[in-house]
Amino acid sequence: MSKQHFNELHLKGVSRAFGKSVALSNLSLTIGNGEFVALLGPSGCGKSTALNCLAGLLPLTAGSIYLDGRRIDTLPPERRDFGMVFQNYALFPHLTVRQNIGFGLKIKKTPKPEIERRVNAAIDLVQLSLHADKHPNQLSGGQQQRVAIARAIVIEPQVVLMDEPLSNLDAKLRHEMRSEIKRLHRELGLTTVYVTHDQEEALSLADRLVVLHDGKVQQIGTPEDVYMNPINSFVADFMGYRNLISMELLAGGSANKYSLTSSGIELTASGIFSGATVGKVLVAIRPEDLLIEKSSKNNIACTVKTIEYQGKDFAVEVSTEQGFVIYVRTPIRLEIGEKTNLTVRPERVMVYPESNN
Ligand code: ATP
Repeated sequence: MSKQHFNELHLKGVSRAFGKSVALSNLSLTIGNGEFVALLGPSGCGKSTALNCLAGLLPLTAGSIYLDGRRIDTLPPERRDFGMVFQNYALFPHLTVRQNIGFGLKIKKTPKPEIERRVNAAIDLVQLSLHADKHPNQLSGGQQQRVAIARAIVIEPQVVLMDEPLSNLDAKLRHEMRSEIKRLHRELGLTTVYVTHDQEEALSLADRLVVLHDGKVQQIGTPEDVYMNPINSFVADFMGYRNLISMELLAGGSANKYSLTSSGIELTASGIFSGATVGKVLVAIRPEDLLIEKSSKNNIACTVKTIEYQGKDFAVEVSTEQGFVIYVRTPIRLEIGEKTNLTVRPERVMVYPESNN
């Protein structure tokens, strides 16, 4: 149902300051037609600012935005032809589902039969046929968010912008709506820019992630790329590399094998080093990448301190002989106080300069 006329949406050095504080600094990004891009980062990193700049709700302090070479950041929101979905749904309480969804088309003075046809199609698409004549207060949170999504897509926008659309829903609904958004994107192929602080949500939905921190882009890449090879220790930390260990990178590494040492921990790492040099470094390891087994390589002797049952596996805290705490996720059932051994594959040991970000 979408009219997709453009090839690319291009953000060039987009920046926004509030007084002296820079909320978004120099965001450059080209988004292809049909692409699903997630802007991801912790609270205050500038994601909503970026989305609002795109929507035209916030003027830029520097930079520009182009749709196929046509400058659009100077246009008011209604002339950008973008659909918006907000966290709080922003539905009209006195209008029915059908009227809420048709509102934008009515404003645009679309002929009545066409409104009816398009609204019915949108209602079917978000599976709300049984609720079309109800008011928002008669709907669940998930159903209200479906109305908000239908209202955004019924105008056949060039791009859909979504700002944390699932954060007001409980965990189960959030999962359901995530699948729903994925299905709609697959069926309609609408270019989507999606803001979230939830890395799992971003990983499961997006074709590409843009990780922001303090208003600056840290990494742009496919979900797998960002998850497996975070570019710096901030992204690693944010993507769940919970073990951040100060170590010493020793000289004399060869064939992409490097030795690291810390009080009582000796590791070999290979692969991405992102500018780390001999001397003090920060090592990042995901709890899931640590295996409970004795190995001749990368062996860490430890004692089990705490165990939390997590359903499909256990979140375990162990301590090395020197008292260093390491976080592990494992399906293996351990006992508190048990002495055990961990190992990690050299390619899953990420090494960063001591202070990068
Ligand atoms: P959240 O997930 O909490 O919504 P965010 O990543 O979307 O965070 P933004 O809302 O874009 O972050 O805010 C980025 C920075 O800009 C923050 O430091 C915020 O305090 C600041 N900021 C945002 N809006 C304004 C405003 N209207 N006036 C002043 N500062 C603002």
